[in-house]
Amino acid sequence: MSINPHPTLPEFDYIRPASLAEACAFLAGEPEARPFLGGTDVFVRMRDGFLAPRFLVDVKGLEGMQALRFDPKKGLTLGAAVDMNRVIASKEVQAHYPLLAEACRSVASYQLRTRATIVGNICNASPAGDTIGACLLLDAELQVHSPKGERREALAQFFLGPGKTTLKPGDIVSAIHFPIPPRGGAGRYLKLGRNRLSDLSIVGVTAFGHPLADLPSGYRFRLALASVAPVPLLVPQVEELLGKGPVTTETLQEAGRLASEACAPIDDVRGSARYRAQMVRNLSVKALTEVWEALSK
Ligand SMILES: Cc1cc2nc3c(=O)[nH]c(=O)nc-3n(C[C@H](O)[C@H](O)[C@H](O)COP(=O)(O)OP(=O)(O)OC[C@H]3O[C@@H](n4cnc5c(N)ncnc54)[C@H](O)[C@@H]3O)c2cc1C
Repeated sequence: MSINPHPTLPEFDYIRPASLAEACAFLAGEPEARPFLGGTDVFVRMRDGFLAPRFLVDVKGLEGMQALRFDPKKGLTLGAAVDMNRVIASKEVQAHYPLLAEACRSVASYQLRTRATIVGNICNASPAGDTIGACLLLDAELQVHSPKGERREALAQFFLGPGKTTLKPGDIVSAIHFPIPPRGGAGRYLKLGRNRLSDLSIVGVTAFGHPLADLPSGYRFRLALASVAPVPLLVPQVEELLGKGPVTTETLQEAGRLASEACAPIDDVRGSARYRAQMVRNLSVKALTEVWEALSK
């Protein structure tokens, strides 16, 4: 790809529908239309020549999009347009979903997070999305509106490849829902970037653990990896290993090795595949050990 030294935004029509139904109908009938929230992915990709939609459909103001609701029985619902700074500042998120706040804090800068949303991060479907691992490990589901009606989609089945999801033309994600997290859980997100601000991850490791009496070890550990496969990657091998026997320094090391074996990184401008695989091992051991220490306090 040749680099354009003077990138400009291509022309487009700005559409602001009055309801979700209207927005879905417009998007379903117009293949060159695209929804947007914060626009922090869409506008950059348009400026850089990767996208040229004729219509941009602003869905931020539609019903329910700005809601942030916690119910002690049902869990947390974030309207799709809730920006990451609101998530970080929420007392309920801090109390019940601190891993989600930690993942949001790792995204770029305060300024960017006043626009960027978790749902945009997910729908962009970059394997590097920093909030996706936490959403996967917290068992998030997406509320999707389409011309045919509403449905819930488990995030675990949502990603099909880089930039590819199960969404069809006319689908709009209106909210993301998190069930009540398991009691006594602890999580950690470790991001390796080229700098501490405003860069995508070379490797991202999210770990979450909680007591579970049904398992021989007494604990369930889960691990998700960013930037090391075509889609955000769950590593069930780690869950199996750390569930079946006592958690020790050796099994945590072995878990890191399994994570490294499970990933399929590529070489790119941020790092080589070999470096990424090694950092997956190191960061997985570190994240899982920190979770284990928090659980055993
Ligand atoms: C300077 C800079 C730094 C960045 N740093 C990071 C970083 O550190 N970590 C990181 O993970 N990302 C980073 N990003 C990428 C981006 O900020 C995030 O992915 C952000 O979460 C996108 O959210 P948004 O609301 O802006 O999405 P948008 O740009 O509005 O949309 C993203 C995608 O989702 C689709 N979409 C939007 N809304 C909906 C909807 N309701 N239903 C269905 N599809 C929808 C859009 O069509 C588009 O394809 C950075 C971007 C910039 C410009």
